[in-house]
Amino acid sequence: MTMSADDGRAGESAAERVARHQRVRLRRLGLSCISYALQIALAVVIALLGAVKPMVAMGYAMAQCVIVASFYLAFRTGVNLRSSEPNLTLAQVLAPALPGLLLLYALDSAESQAALVLTTVVPLLYGTLDLSMGSFIVAVTVYTVGYLVVVFSHGLLHAHEGPFFHNWILAASLAIVMPQIVLLSALINRLRRTLRERNHEVREAMSRIEAMAVRDHLTGLYNRRWLMDMLDRERTRCQRAPYVFCVALIDVDHFKQINDTYGHAVGDEVLKRLARLMADGVREIDSFGRFGGEEFLWIVPDTDLEHAMEAAERLRRQVAELVFHGEDGTDFSITLSMGIAQNDSNRRLPNHTLLRLADRALYDAKAGGRDRAVGAPREASGRVDHPAAGRKRGRGRP
Ligand code: GH3
Ligand code: MG
Ligand code: MG
Repeated sequence: MTMSADDGRAGESAAERVARHQRVRLRRLGLSCISYALQIALAVVIALLGAVKPMVAMGYAMAQCVIVASFYLAFRTGVNLRSSEPNLTLAQVLAPALPGLLLLYALDSAESQAALVLTTVVPLLYGTLDLSMGSFIVAVTVYTVGYLVVVFSHGLLHAHEGPFFHNWILAASLAIVMPQIVLLSALINRLRRTLRERNHEVREAMSRIEAMAVRDHLTGLYNRRWLMDMLDRERTRCQRAPYVFCVALIDVDHFKQINDTYGHAVGDEVLKRLARLMADGVREIDSFGRFGGEEFLWIVPDTDLEHAMEAAERLRRQVAELVFHGEDGTDFSITLSMGIAQNDSNRRLPNHTLLRLADRALYDAKAGGRDRAVGAPREASGRVDHPAAGRKRGRGRP
């Protein structure tokens, strides 16, 4: 099969891909050595039976060995990479033609030629697997013309030894076989193209599925599962070196009222627009996503509580300035409450403890009148001792 640019593997560099392709080429050459060896063995048998002179069989064997060695060197040194067709398939199909045809010519009779012609088509058959239709037609033409020249010149030369019609029969059977090989090659080419297209579709579907697994369907933001993975990653950084990061749990204030007043569809639009604005507002290195319902989680790497609070305040003010439109023509705005907690190499809080601290700070933000960001005290342990903590988050807040 052709090794094309689109069969790269995930995480593989260009140099690694080239090296892998070269290994595959060498492996294929190794496989074709079996075919070369069998043909050489056949030439030896023919010589032993007296159908060709031993010198001819020897020359044939040497020529085949030189061909294999040349391709081996080309792949080892990378010379083939300079070619527009680095697999060198056309060259590999055509190279054995000359020794094959010469051996055919050296045979003592048309009957022997008929017996051997089958094996000399073998390289052509390999070509059906890799050559483009144009290259394949070139290869078929070279072989057909070569066969006809050999068969007829042999026939003319040996006409005095017996009837010439054997050569005619051989030429006629070649005329039948060759177009069929071309036809088969065209079919194989079409199958390969379809297979490549299907592979492409499967790869695209896979990446869509992967994206769906980590994305929230309404807002397009990363989902809770992805956020928890990112949180794990941040916590691991705390274990390796001095490091600090924060999480901000963000909740839309009185969102239920928006649904109740303007309808669920408007509520959805508010969430989508809000998600876009906030995702654009955070830094590139931050992780931001929908934690559930009208709650969002913002992971702020390499940042202490004071700086995270400043950033949260900026975001909160930006959101407060947004104006939304109800279907009845009325304008409205929304506010956010945020609970922010810090984790660092000194405390290395488990994720659930860190989130509980952020949740408690969020509760305090709600209790303090909403529309504000509250930081969790750094000495807090994350133990559940708040009167409302332990209830389902988002419910029971004042
Ligand atoms: P608080 O200020 O205490 O957070 O009040 P709240 O009304 O925002 O909180 P509450 O937990 O009572 O209500 C959250 C609402 O968010 C209820 C739920 O229907 C709504 N909600 C959750 N997910 C979606 C959604 O995907 N689309 C819409 N339109 N509403 C949602
Ligand atoms: Mg809310
Ligand atoms: Mg809530």
